Amino acid sequence: MLQAERPAADRAASLRHLECGASGDVLLYLGGEWHAASDGATRELVDPATGEPIARTAEATVKDAERAIAIARRAFDDGPWPQTSALERARLLNRLADAIDRNAVDFAAMETLNCGKPLREAEYDVADAANCFRYYAGLATKPHGQTFDVPAPSQSFTVREPIGVCGQIVPWNYPLLMAVWKLAPALAAGNVCILKPSEYTPLSALWLAKLTQDAGFPSGVLSVLPGAGPVAGAALAESLHVDKIAFTGSVRTGQSVMRAAALNVKKISLELGGKSPNIVFDDADFATAVDYALFGIYANAGQVCSAGSRLLVQRTLAGRFVAELVRRAKNIVVGDGFDPRTEMGPLVSRRQRDRVEEYIRIGSEEGATLACGGSRLGGELGERGNFILPTIFTDTRPSMRIVQEEIFGPVLAVQVFDDEAAAIALANDSPYGLAGAVFTNDAARALRVIRKLRAGITWINAYHPTYNEAPWGGYKQSGIGRELGTYGYDAYTEVKQININLAVEPSGWFRDTE
Ligand code: NAD
Repeated sequence: MLQAERPAADRAASLRHLECGASGDVLLYLGGEWHAASDGATRELVDPATGEPIARTAEATVKDAERAIAIARRAFDDGPWPQTSALERARLLNRLADAIDRNAVDFAAMETLNCGKPLREAEYDVADAANCFRYYAGLATKPHGQTFDVPAPSQSFTVREPIGVCGQIVPWNYPLLMAVWKLAPALAAGNVCILKPSEYTPLSALWLAKLTQDAGFPSGVLSVLPGAGPVAGAALAESLHVDKIAFTGSVRTGQSVMRAAALNVKKISLELGGKSPNIVFDDADFATAVDYALFGIYANAGQVCSAGSRLLVQRTLAGRFVAELVRRAKNIVVGDGFDPRTEMGPLVSRRQRDRVEEYIRIGSEEGATLACGGSRLGGELGERGNFILPTIFTDTRPSMRIVQEEIFGPVLAVQVFDDEAAAIALANDSPYGLAGAVFTNDAARALRVIRKLRAGITWINAYHPTYNEAPWGGYKQSGIGRELGTYGYDAYTEVKQININLAVEPSGWFRDTE
């Protein structure tokens, strides 16, 4: 384990892109205008790697949310956006994608500064974000309706129309990407959006708002409300003037958003947590399975909803496999995301570090064996930042909390199985159903197991690759609906049935007896 030195890179350079008030505080974005919070409140953002303050942002109030909703309503009900041609929407989305690409270096730096992930990971996120806009720019102009052969002289068909005002609430683990997964399909379909980024990581979403202005999106089409979830987020979820709420975050908050959405029966999409199984059979390609097991849990320091946080390994392979995994986990370079040598960064906040440490304590108390990690990074960097070493628990039981509950940190729980049936039973023994993977060289077995997995996103002989083109979402308590791909677009549209009577004459149902 190497403790990274403080990097030479000017980590604050990206902040110059943000729109600030006279006091230097970053402003919130209300449909084309930049404002302080209605009560002047701000929140200090902290660099997760150093513990140092990086910026103060306006903290949106309920009044700010109400203003954003009123602006959005006007933009949707009376503004040009919903009637703008698909070709024009696509042109603007492509311009936005190009602007992200042009600013990729600073966007990545901003993500690393705000949420701690290694620059290399942030660079992938930024490229993906640009490509997500491009994907939906392409989709906007493609055919979306259907025609129906009905038993009447009638031409029956459907068109897809925008839903209206969409409240979009996202977490801190992929601040830019989670925002884009929601904005791109929503804007492509002609909706107007009010985005509520995480209170910990609002910076890249605010910069993105500025780029939508520069790209030429009509004002009112987007607002961005940095601030506390139970304030600005809840105001969106509860509002009777918001037509759809799309939420990514924890199950608990998702439940509260769902309850609030019931007030006016909003359309709802939920992308929630996971405790996903990564199943390794003894005939798997050893090096590949070890490599992806590490990537599955330690990418983004385990702060990934689809993380392979449960490793299910066949008993005949378990000793050798876990020994190699522990050796490799100990070699992962933990440090400041700006240091090019860093392979795993800090957790996003003190709160998240404390939460992960609490689970490590619980795991030990429950009687699991700590095979590696389990503590903070040492030295000055470890004292200042929120670093937890890659951690592996073995000798677990299915009922343990570290096996059942989402930790959202670099903590792997190893489970051992004897045969295919046992692997499937263990894998599905979870309230979650987001993702899962199988490693084996037996193609038939791979498909048999995958088909029995109660999960929405699966891989065979890989873990984590995510595609803008393919649907993302979970079974069971991992959520409702799908993002990305054509499914993600459909989730931002209403379907209107249109029937044209081809025999324009009275139906004669009621007799005219006078
Ligand atoms: P969180 O639920 O605490 O917060 C998510 C967002 O909801 C934040 O913007 C927060 O401010 C807001 N929020 C909080 N309380 C609210 C309320 N009462 N009403 C409305 N909004 C509210 O989650 P988090 O800690 O930011 O993120 C981690 C969680 O997100 C994990 O459970 C993870 O699995 C999940 N996640 C899921 C996916 C997915 O695609 N399924 C992707 C990323 C993260």
